[in-house]
Amino acid sequence: MKNYICPKCGGFLSIDNEIIFLTKNNKGASALVLLDAEIGNYSFRKNGKVDFASGDHVNFICPICYENLNAEEYDDNLAKVIMIDANGKESEIVFSKVLGEQATYSVHEKGVDAFGDHKNNYMNKL
Ligand SMILES: [Zn+2]
Repeated sequence: MKNYICPKCGGFLSIDNEIIFLTKNNKGASALVLLDAEIGNYSFRKNGKVDFASGDHVNFICPICYENLNAEEYDDNLAKVIMIDANGKESEIVFSKVLGEQATYSVHEKGVDAFGDHKNNYMNKL
């Protein structure tokens, strides 16, 4: 079982196969969002009343410490969490904050693995 933790407070963000975030889009709508913990799976859950649209810029916030999870050291469109795999190895998981943009990166000691249809968008930033 993989676990995802907040890079700011170390709190556990995942339960089983979902990662929980506070989110707010660039139009001011906010929601709890559950992302699939499987890297490269872009399905997610939120309340159906919350109107997020493709192309929205979504801020991801830790629900435990309320810190913004921006990965601005790479790009303003990216956020990050820490993933601990079943063997206890840590990697940084960096993902696009733009709804519909499928770009995820696993940054670890051996390099960068890239996932998603739009992975080339930020490949030169990591
Ligand atoms: Zn936190």
